[in-house]
Amino acid sequence: MIPFLDLSSMNSRYRDELISACARVVDSGQYIAGEELAAFEQEFADYCGVKYCIGVGNGLDALNLTLRAWILSGLLKAGDEVIVPSNTYIATVLAVTENRLRPVFVDPDPETFNIDHKNIEKVINPRTRVIIPVHLYGRLADMPTIMDIAARNRLLVLEDAAQAHGAGIGGRKAGAWGNAAGFSFYPGKNLGALGDAGAVVTDDSSLAEKVKAVRNYGSRQKYHHDLQGVNSRLDEIQAAILRVKLPYLDEDIRIRREIAQTYLASIKNRFLTLPDISAEKSIADSHVWHIFVVRSDYRDQVRKHLDQSGIASMIHYPIAPHCQPAYSDYQSLKLPMAEYLQSTVFSLPLFPTMKSEQVAEVVRACNAFKP
Ligand SMILES: *Cc1c(COP(=O)(O)O)cnc(C)c1O
Repeated sequence: MIPFLDLSSMNSRYRDELISACARVVDSGQYIAGEELAAFEQEFADYCGVKYCIGVGNGLDALNLTLRAWILSGLLKAGDEVIVPSNTYIATVLAVTENRLRPVFVDPDPETFNIDHKNIEKVINPRTRVIIPVHLYGRLADMPTIMDIAARNRLLVLEDAAQAHGAGIGGRKAGAWGNAAGFSFYPGKNLGALGDAGAVVTDDSSLAEKVKAVRNYGSRQKYHHDLQGVNSRLDEIQAAILRVKLPYLDEDIRIRREIAQTYLASIKNRFLTLPDISAEKSIADSHVWHIFVVRSDYRDQVRKHLDQSGIASMIHYPIAPHCQPAYSDYQSLKLPMAEYLQSTVFSLPLFPTMKSEQVAEVVRACNAFKP
């Protein structure tokens, strides 16, 4: 069986380094907010090309605490509207509603899967305060246009970069476009810890300072609490693990692009629609291929055929946030593109330790499918 993602083979490439990083933390006696975290924050900020990085407990909190910090700074208040893509992982929306802000769902462009700027313009009104573009599946949203819309309408931009470490346009990376960005280091992300972890990145010193306090009980000085914060910290073990893996991220992205290129060039089946990257200058332009998503009107049949050929696949995502029971208030919304995508998309295996024979097998099985 070709797995969808093989995390153990990916992490075992660095087994010795990971174990000595963990041993270093065990021996240090410092397990929260120590040198590993400070070093990782600096290294990841440098990688993204921003001034500040604040490690937090997970990707959801990276988004959540940024919005919270803006509320605490008076830039946002409960009931304000936040524009989010209609096809995203639920975390993007949870961060909004956790802060009692109002999500305004906007349909994506079906070719890029990312939020469509023409639809953003349609929903902006005096209550709109924030846009959260998601760099879905590893492809940068149309940030030049989104930043222009935000500037014209005085909106804040929070990038959901959980799937897009290292993606960029013209050398400017995910995380370096908006007022702030949230990253996840969930194990399956392109830069994954061995547990939960996340980070906020920003060039805004006052936002960085606030998020830093909020993640740690609203405290700037031990036992002094200026804000009502939470406990959401990136612990030393995970920071040390991420420091081992960060230097290999670009090489992994290169391999991901190579596999994606093979799929794009070799999968030829009129019942499958491959991602359209014709708007990008090259395969290496913006996309880091966190997930390789294809569309088919025969999705369930294709997946069954792949399964019978020994190939795992997944659906990202089978139910759009506004169709989830958790958001039943939004069920009557009509978001045709999100609804079309949730019933036609599925994802092929793509991970850096995939062997070329496995890639070829996926291609063969895709090409052999007939409804
Ligand atoms: C994974 C993910 C998150 C949340 O990250 P966690 O670390 O799992 O909390 C947020 N947004 C998107 C788009 C994601 O894929």
